[in-house]
Amino acid sequence: MEIAANNPSLKSWVEVPENSDFPIQNLPFGIFKTNQLTARVGSRIGDMVIDLKSLFVLGYFTNLPFEMKDFDSQTLNSLMKKGKKGTRDLRNRLSKLLEIGHTDLKINEHHVDQVFIPVDQVEMLLPVEIGDYTDFYSSREHATNVGTMFRDPNNALLPNWLWIPVGYHGRSSSVIVSGVDIHRPKGQIRPIATEDPILSASQRVDFELEMGFITYDGKPLGDSISTEESEDFIFGMCLFNDWSARDIQTWEYVPLGPFLAKNFASSMSPWIVTLDALEPFRIEGPKQEPEVLSYLKFEGKKSYDIQLEVALKPELVEETTICKSNFKYMYWNMSQQLAHHTINGCNIRCGDLMGSGTISGPTPDSYGSMLELSWKGEKPLTLKDGTERKFVKDNDTVIMRGHAEKDNVRVGFGEVRSKLLPAKN
Ligand code: CA
Repeated sequence: MEIAANNPSLKSWVEVPENSDFPIQNLPFGIFKTNQLTARVGSRIGDMVIDLKSLFVLGYFTNLPFEMKDFDSQTLNSLMKKGKKGTRDLRNRLSKLLEIGHTDLKINEHHVDQVFIPVDQVEMLLPVEIGDYTDFYSSREHATNVGTMFRDPNNALLPNWLWIPVGYHGRSSSVIVSGVDIHRPKGQIRPIATEDPILSASQRVDFELEMGFITYDGKPLGDSISTEESEDFIFGMCLFNDWSARDIQTWEYVPLGPFLAKNFASSMSPWIVTLDALEPFRIEGPKQEPEVLSYLKFEGKKSYDIQLEVALKPELVEETTICKSNFKYMYWNMSQQLAHHTINGCNIRCGDLMGSGTISGPTPDSYGSMLELSWKGEKPLTLKDGTERKFVKDNDTVIMRGHAEKDNVRVGFGEVRSKLLPAKN
């Protein structure tokens, strides 16, 4: 089905800078506040944040299934409760109001003044009250690299990997929005394999280049979501840095998997780009061999061509781009992840967050973590300021960016950034 707001020929009467991630074809959702305005739902076009609460109050969303509380909210959950049709109609309405030939809003100067706020005057907040956070491990290149380093290059993928979208349950309490800094975590590490472990600040703090998707309400406990239905349950996507402490991970992860190495922080970008807006950027995923079980089969293009990059910025000097990857490299797609997650009857809820797992591409400059980029620290990276990195240093800022581009339309995510501060005493 054609989505009106995706028409590549649409232009807006609102100025959009060249190469902006936020043309009229994007219209993501987020939560913002300003010195004057309480937290509320917003969208974005160019360098302007659009106050959707004000648009609602001013009567621009008549005949849509929304109430004041859906916009006058510190999270998007209430809005997402309206489901795919509701949010699609809302985005289409917004698109219409901003379209160049449409004057309802444009001619109302005092409405325009009230509704548009320059992006540098707002503070973006965590957009979703995340119920459960699940992290997958769906990049074949990443799983192969990690398996090669830690186990056996000849059997890098474990036997289940090509059959199951492997995942684990993460922790939602420590998911933070872009701009929130974190402290280097402490924990048990065992620097010398033949000696006892010690309590220490992690010496191997790493990022993981991931994307996340946010769900609508799912089905009741006991029911499953098929790959065919899956997209009706996905609201949108964000950039996601799943911070990791490799030395804590190495010691703790046997036999039940990651715990404190992963749950100290995960950073997400503030704008949720709807799955609708990403529709034009569908692409075929990697060929799956062996053939997957029937509940993981799917029709059509379920991968997305989203260019990703990671930059590292030491304190006071310019950033260096250290990785360029693409979401299309994911072996397991979101529909398969959701079908697998619910095949046992596990229910998902409005506001759940699903991480893709680290997105590594086929070449060494497309690896999505320092662990892989520096190959366990054996091949340090050299930054523009001449300093070397094996892992993330104190006061380094990690910045991830992503966008899709086709037919001269660029739909992007902006960025997720956060700085690693020294460990607390
Ligand atoms: Ca992860």
